[in-house]
Amino acid sequence: MVALVYSPRYDIRFFGVERFHPFDSRKYGRAWKELRQQFGARLWNHHVPVDRPSTDNDLLQVHSPEYLATIRRPRGLAAALELPFLRHAPGWLLAWRMVRPMRWATRGTVLAAKAALQHGVAVNLSGGYHHAKPDRGEGFCLFSDIALAIRSLRAEGLLRSPQRVAYIDLDAHQGNGVCHEFLHDKEVFIFDMYNSQIYPSYDSEARQRIDCNLPLPYGCVGVEYLRILRNYLPGFLDSLSRDPGIGLGIYNAGTDVFMNDPLGGMRLTAGDILERDLFVIDQFRSRGIPLVMVPSGGYTRQSYQFITATIMELLTMITLPPII
Ligand SMILES: [Zn+2]
Repeated sequence: MVALVYSPRYDIRFFGVERFHPFDSRKYGRAWKELRQQFGARLWNHHVPVDRPSTDNDLLQVHSPEYLATIRRPRGLAAALELPFLRHAPGWLLAWRMVRPMRWATRGTVLAAKAALQHGVAVNLSGGYHHAKPDRGEGFCLFSDIALAIRSLRAEGLLRSPQRVAYIDLDAHQGNGVCHEFLHDKEVFIFDMYNSQIYPSYDSEARQRIDCNLPLPYGCVGVEYLRILRNYLPGFLDSLSRDPGIGLGIYNAGTDVFMNDPLGGMRLTAGDILERDLFVIDQFRSRGIPLVMVPSGGYTRQSYQFITATIMELLTMITLPPII
């Protein structure tokens, strides 16, 4: 069974100014629309709605109160989102139009993690904010949805120590925020393949935290990328599968590895991205490990199509009873 977590509230609309950022802030709605067109009414059998946005109370599990106060102010928020002109926008408007969709997406990742435990594979159509740190937002990432998902499952007893979490980050950028969230947590194991020449290359503390560290050259092509992935991921999962085993896999499936992406600096084709995603998913499914997937970065207009291609393949491949 594949569970798809989605809310129409994910899309960010800020009177058009969101277009100044390379991120397609409406790709979630576009992805859902395309899935509906391709898969028809059966899609609703897989849908997990999002009940509410993440609250400050939730977020205190992964962020400092000082940081949450900072991003309530336009200046602090503009810095975290890397949209300097937002400094002059009213705080209430920013909270409503920019921050709230990200709170919904963050809650979506928590629900997707729970759905993965129940159904095997779950995809949140937004989220994957892997640059958000405990006391700082950066790289368009405000809230560490991935860390919140793990901490929430633990708090509810759905993940029990010493069960492991395998975090696989294949976004073109190194997932430094996740490394900082779990700097001293030895039950979270991090596998990260990334373009070593781009942001956040300065963050050596984060890189040192990665358990399977695979820095790639600028312009890495699909054949080489997939060769490295196939060489390292199975062994990484095998080594963690020994007692007490992996309780949850989290796959950050950033599509900014695409050849035309303006930020990723890598050269994968759409076909390479699909092959990558299906390989990762199969590695978890064949070991019986629940997996949650988040879309993370992707800065071309086609980005949503890569996400839908993977989900369509999943829906076709895994035909088990629908969610009741
Ligand atoms: Zn990225």
